[in-house]
Amino acid sequence: MALNFKIYTIFPEIFPGFLGYSLTGRALEEGIWSFETVNIRDYAFDKHGSVDDTPCGGGAGMVMRADVLGRAIAANHSGGRILAMSPKGRPLTQQTVHQLSRETEVSVVCGRFEGIDERVLEAFDIEEVSIGDYILTGGEQAAQIMFDAVIRLLPGVLGNAQSTMSESFEDCLLEYPQYTRPTEWEGKQVPEVLLSGHHKKIEDWRKEQAIKITGERRPDLLKKYLDSKRV
Ligand code: SAH
Repeated sequence: MALNFKIYTIFPEIFPGFLGYSLTGRALEEGIWSFETVNIRDYAFDKHGSVDDTPCGGGAGMVMRADVLGRAIAANHSGGRILAMSPKGRPLTQQTVHQLSRETEVSVVCGRFEGIDERVLEAFDIEEVSIGDYILTGGEQAAQIMFDAVIRLLPGVLGNAQSTMSESFEDCLLEYPQYTRPTEWEGKQVPEVLLSGHHKKIEDWRKEQAIKITGERRPDLLKKYLDSKRV
């Protein structure tokens, strides 16, 4: 079944953006996924289309108004999960990405300015999702990254379904190093075991490398991996 993203934004023209290219672009043409945008500005109460106001309690910047955004959501929401992109959200993981890929409709609110009035988040039971510990200028960029991760898991998007199984994070380990031809480049050889044709040895070498790299770069993930093996 196809997946539709409903996107609340003040910049609808940003979509589909880079999702219109390559694998995700083809999947869009094929109807494997679709999107609709709701322009939050269309729900403003004044003729200037104001969507933001100064923060209560003072401080820099502007906040997206609860009444305008609330009206936009109330007029368009047809049920299903509703998320908001936000640096204070729960960090996006491959596990959440898998969950989202099994939905038929996912609604996403894209913040701008300093963020969204907390009352709308509460009123519509909106789950806040972060794509990492850094600050972007808008939720549209973050939403597109999340959509990209979800779309590539939809049946028929990737040529080789196997390729999503051995990737970084799928089993709490980062991916092993990859090589292709030429087998020698500027004096550097492809590790011999990969040319041996010995599947068991290749598999063992890759596992060993994955564990080593994960330990060096992401000790937090390695710990999760080791804990999962202990049960
Ligand atoms: N003042 C806010 C940052 C606002 S950035 C704070 O300190 O938390 C403006 C908008 O960009 C946010 O509302 C959100 O929609 C989006 N955004 C910025 N960084 C993000 C991140 N790491 N993950 C998801 N969305 C992000």
